[in-house]
Amino acid sequence: MTDSFDVIIIGAGPGGYVCALRAAQLGLKVACVEKRATLGGTCLNIGCIPSKALLQSSENYTAAIHDFADHGVEVGDVRLDLERMMARKGEVVTANVKGVEFLFRKNKVTWLKGAGRIAAAGRVEVDGTPYETKSIVIATGSESMPLPGIDVDEKQVVTSTGGLELDRVPGHLAVIGGGYIGLELGSVWRRLGAEVTVIEFLDRLVPSMDAEIARAFERVLGKQGIKFRLGTKVTAARRGNDGVTLTVEPAKGGEAEEITADVVLLAIGRRAWTDGLGLAEAGVETDERGRVRTDGHYATNVAGIYAIGDVIAGPMLAHKAEEEGIALAEILAGQAGHVNYGAIPGVVYTWPEVASVGRTEDELKAAGVAYSVGKFPFTANARARAMGDTDGFVKILADKATDRVLGAHIIGPDAGTLIAELVTAMEFGASAEDVARTCHAHPSLNEAVKEAALAVEGRAIHI
Ligand SMILES: Cc1cc2nc3c(=O)[nH]c(=O)nc-3n(C[C@H](O)[C@H](O)[C@H](O)COP(=O)(O)OP(=O)(O)OC[C@H]3O[C@@H](n4cnc5c(N)ncnc54)[C@H](O)[C@@H]3O)c2cc1C
Repeated sequence: MTDSFDVIIIGAGPGGYVCALRAAQLGLKVACVEKRATLGGTCLNIGCIPSKALLQSSENYTAAIHDFADHGVEVGDVRLDLERMMARKGEVVTANVKGVEFLFRKNKVTWLKGAGRIAAAGRVEVDGTPYETKSIVIATGSESMPLPGIDVDEKQVVTSTGGLELDRVPGHLAVIGGGYIGLELGSVWRRLGAEVTVIEFLDRLVPSMDAEIARAFERVLGKQGIKFRLGTKVTAARRGNDGVTLTVEPAKGGEAEEITADVVLLAIGRRAWTDGLGLAEAGVETDERGRVRTDGHYATNVAGIYAIGDVIAGPMLAHKAEEEGIALAEILAGQAGHVNYGAIPGVVYTWPEVASVGRTEDELKAAGVAYSVGKFPFTANARARAMGDTDGFVKILADKATDRVLGAHIIGPDAGTLIAELVTAMEFGASAEDVARTCHAHPSLNEAVKEAALAVEGRAIHI
């Protein structure tokens, strides 16, 4: 007899596994199909988690070389043990993926191991074995975007997957793409001693970021030794015995030149991953970028088939996928799941970190919204000075008429944690004054958030 479920989720990344856990909490009989040997998807295996492990380790290394002495801590010769650093990264990943396996067992979610294919609404095959289900959730995520003329071998020309696995520090790493993945991994290898050149088609970094923050970000990464070739496109890569030669030319057209590097990291973005899913046969519509098309409740055009996470439209972020997983599980259980897309934070985990939520100044201008700006620099924050981390500032954008917080942008120490306060404020429809009148502990980095909120009305205290 064919096994049957209330819901079968294909893909166990943060979208799929969180959807599975929430649906099980709500009493549904759930299976999750995953073809990778471990659960957790891109995020836990080859994305968020290993990259953050290497960012932390490389940060510790560079702090020991450059910053400890200033604090009066003498450490003598600092040496890099890359093998140990990579082994630790592996341990962090293992602890996380095993954690998801434990949660599946605890919540009685069945892991169907293998590749899932939609045979029809209500029927999923896993490596040929059929299963029946009331609902199907596509949560198959994304993969690195290829670039014509650039062949990836994951040794000399790598995607982020190979970029997290290099067995030696390259003399020169060329990063194609100035988005968050390229800048995070570029930072890792720069800190470990590589010369790093970031080649970006646009004339700025991270296009979704507030332009003023992006300029400050470029300056601060430049001070760390990362070189930028903005407004530049890569047209070819030639692999040789001792490196890769890239042909580049100005994005607007012009004379071509060559850049040689030991390793090239291709990080120009990611695209929805639907290979072998049987979408066309099942009649599931995709959009012009290959993403599964869904309505506001994650339903595809085929009754009983839903999709969430990187495989649908929206920012390709783990927490966005998780929120969608929870909302959909609740909808499937008859509740009113919902995601507020106006308050999804985005963080770049370099040092300093960059974090944002809501609208940028350019977006507000384009929408014709009148706004006020409040800014506060970390040079005037006592805790940042005590830490020795004074690069950056907090910027809050509030509606000119109502004072409601419309966007917040931070470059600075622990910006990724600081932004949570402003995400909460936006979720509650707070005004800048609400944040400004909230008591913040002293001395804390969060005081810079309070001061920026005060600055919206020109009444910051410490500047
Ligand atoms: C280097 C890097 C760093 C990142 N850092 C961050 C970060 O710091 N913060 C952040 O928010 N986001 C980060 N991301 C993005 C984040 O990883 C994704 O947004 C997130 O993983 C998307 O979750 P998902 O569940 O939609 O898909 P995924 O995590 O991609 O999971 C999909 C799963 O589906 C499986 N699958 C696919 N097809 C099938 C099939 N037919 N049958 C069975 N299984 C299948 C895949 O094997 C995969 O395990 C990073 C990504 C990368 C590459």
